[in-house]
Amino acid sequence: MTAIEVHPVRLGIANAYIVRQEGTILVDTGAPGNETAILEAAKGLGIAPEDIRLILLTHGHGDHAGSARRLREKTGSKVAVHRDDAEKLRHGNQGKLRAAGLTGRLLGPFFRGKKALYPPLEPDIIIGDSFDLRTFGVDGTVVPTPGHTPGSVSVFLANGDALVGDLIFPSIPSEKPCLPFWADNPDEVKRSIGIVLAWRAVFGRRY
Ligand SMILES: [Zn+2]
Repeated sequence: MTAIEVHPVRLGIANAYIVRQEGTILVDTGAPGNETAILEAAKGLGIAPEDIRLILLTHGHGDHAGSARRLREKTGSKVAVHRDDAEKLRHGNQGKLRAAGLTGRLLGPFFRGKKALYPPLEPDIIIGDSFDLRTFGVDGTVVPTPGHTPGSVSVFLANGDALVGDLIFPSIPSEKPCLPFWADNPDEVKRSIGIVLAWRAVFGRRY
């Protein structure tokens, strides 16, 4: 079996990840306008747009789903999201952010208004209880880890990597893993972190 490669694409506020094994998938898409940076990063790895067969969104916030529509147009790939965040995509609106602590309250005003909006799209694949990525040539599975948003999911890869979206934030300024600054349901966040820890105690520097 080919080794799984995980290539972070650093986009400022959030990362996207190019994951390649037998097939190539993209996890998250950054904010609106990030499509060029992502395709450039893919090109640097020798990946053509049409090689990307799946765009998996960890949740429907604009800094993760913002370039999904443009990237789908440019790659022809399918877009997958959990059913409980699908409405955000359909409206291209991440909705309100619920502060889960002081940092969220302080930063909240910078992420409202126009920043909440992104090009809307109808998802191709609606995820329910779980989603097997082997169909797309990557040995991994997508598991619901709600709390930050109702439809937040994490990607567990067979090499031990976990891509958890905004379930875990880097704290400011230490960058140590911490609870998200915003959470629709903080108790659910803790339960979901338990799922990640129980899976393989992967709590590294990938968020
Ligand atoms: Zn988020």
